Amino acid sequence: MVNIKSSSEIIKMQRAGEIVALAFKAVGEAVSDGVTTAELDAIASEVIRAKGAVPSFLNYNGFPKSICTSVNDVVIHGIPSKDIVLKTGDIIGVDIGAYFEGYHGDRAVTFGVGEISGAAKNLIAAAERAFYTGIAQAREGNRVTDISSAVQKYVEGCGYSVVRDFVGHGLGTRLHESPEVPNFGQPGRGSRLYAGMTLAVEPMINAGGAEVAVGKDGWTVTTVDGSLSAHYEHSVVITKNEPLLLTVLT
Ligand code: MG
Repeated sequence: MVNIKSSSEIIKMQRAGEIVALAFKAVGEAVSDGVTTAELDAIASEVIRAKGAVPSFLNYNGFPKSICTSVNDVVIHGIPSKDIVLKTGDIIGVDIGAYFEGYHGDRAVTFGVGEISGAAKNLIAAAERAFYTGIAQAREGNRVTDISSAVQKYVEGCGYSVVRDFVGHGLGTRLHESPEVPNFGQPGRGSRLYAGMTLAVEPMINAGGAEVAVGKDGWTVTTVDGSLSAHYEHSVVITKNEPLLLTVLT
């Protein structure tokens, strides 16, 4: 089932995506030593709601907060808490979604808190470069796993591993639509890509092994070996040429 968006739907997704980008601007400025992840959640929620949108993740399958905040060895789905206080040297993956006029935008960025180690900087940079390496394959005529394979090759070439238990996804009127967009696999497989498909491409990469586990809260995903993890994501629309990023300020 190929899900192609019309140009008017793409415009709506750009609006949702711009709200996500605005929330990121505010959260990115707030990330600092002593801030709690609950405070970051409140900041994002305020920006999203001020624009007349709703945080996509709030109550999604019962998720209790508006954004995900994943510190150090937390890979994804960390639950914001007043008890989680950022300190200099931490890294934090922030994942924000906004639902506006029937469409979702979804983006993730990993930030350093103050001065971070060289190893942490390199990991964060690799997650971002993995995303851009992946989307270089995201164009009409290619297949989904052309993206997946490019991400995996890049990440493993850096000496890191890609998470396999969680994957990117299509999105639009629903936060998760087909197709799945894994960060691993052989090229040339999966759905063919067509102009107008909208995908959340999101490398999740670990400094150590690929194994992850879900915590007792039913959400928080951590690396099994305790190594650092970084996440980078944009919602994109496939075109006949370069994909366009939807979750940016326009
Ligand atoms: Mg996503």
